[in-house]
Amino acid sequence: MKTIIQLDTIEKRFAEAVVVPPLSLSIEEGEFLTLLGPSGCGKTTLLRMIAGFEEPTAGDIFLDGKPLGSVPPYQRDMNMVFQQYALFPHMNVEQNILFGLKMKKVNAAEQKRRLEEVLGYVQLTELRKRTPKQLSGGQQQRVAIARAIVNNPRVLLLDEPLGALDYQLRKSLQLELKNLQKNLGITFIYVTHDQEEAMAMSDRIAVMNKGRIEQIASPAEIYNKPQTLFVATFIGENNIFRQGDTCSAVRPEKIKLYRTDSDATEHRCTGTITDAVFLGNLRKVFIRLDGQDMTVMAHQYAGNGLDWQVDDRVAIGWSQADEVILPC
Ligand code: ATP
Repeated sequence: MKTIIQLDTIEKRFAEAVVVPPLSLSIEEGEFLTLLGPSGCGKTTLLRMIAGFEEPTAGDIFLDGKPLGSVPPYQRDMNMVFQQYALFPHMNVEQNILFGLKMKKVNAAEQKRRLEEVLGYVQLTELRKRTPKQLSGGQQQRVAIARAIVNNPRVLLLDEPLGALDYQLRKSLQLELKNLQKNLGITFIYVTHDQEEAMAMSDRIAVMNKGRIEQIASPAEIYNKPQTLFVATFIGENNIFRQGDTCSAVRPEKIKLYRTDSDATEHRCTGTITDAVFLGNLRKVFIRLDGQDMTVMAHQYAGNGLDWQVDDRVAIGWSQADEVILPC
């Protein structure tokens, strides 16, 4: 693996407010890296510093080992895709895509070759003569993506590009974008606050909280081995049990429910069901223990008798291997 972008103790302050405290990060060539975190945690600011739209207050950013400090955005060999597609309304799909190549005076044959190629990638060949207002939101975002990849950038920066689309379309475009990224081999740095989206698309996720990266790892590692309480509770759900200086975290789907008179496994405790929500194949069961509320995802098999009801007394067990110990 080769590092393409290196952030070296970069920092961003707006007046007195520290939005990104000193932060270092290496991004590998060809990877799909997602910056994930709650609203206001500094994701966009970090992305804009990489793009060159925002100047770091301190620290350096390197592309292929060369400092970007004095390089303006348009010379950075990167493009950015925004949530608002920012297409030229009076130009058709082709003209929107070709705009950058025309400005750079790329020759006509090369323009045509690149255009056909990217129209194919984003499946817009049939719609090439339409203007933005004749396209759906998803199609407009495809044009914006085509425009951003047509000049073969080394890095594509994407700021919540699917945020304006409805749930179903977002799901299908997530897979399309991920496949496009793998086929093109372009490094993607992707900002979202949607953890499912981050899980579905990324090679690595950097989980951000108040400008800091709390953990950076593969989606599976972030989910199964969170290193901080913030990561454990921000990504999916976790039951947190406080034990002095440490906490233990157990995923709701790792917990087994038993009738109180049955044989339960280790870590057995008993409680009372306060709510049970039907979710199709699963039932989300809320349980009150002594001084602690917890959530369990119980499988619903037809005819297995596990029809949990409010006020039922239940026994609870989980395997120690499914428990993650964290500082709290
Ligand atoms: P969201 O998901 O809501 O877009 P984000 O994680 O991308 O949030 P940023 O947009 O990077 O967060 O903002 C981080 C913090 O910096 C916020 O508190 C924001 O108000 C502040 N901020 C961003 N830009 C400026 C600016 N130009 N001047 C002052 N404060 C700013």
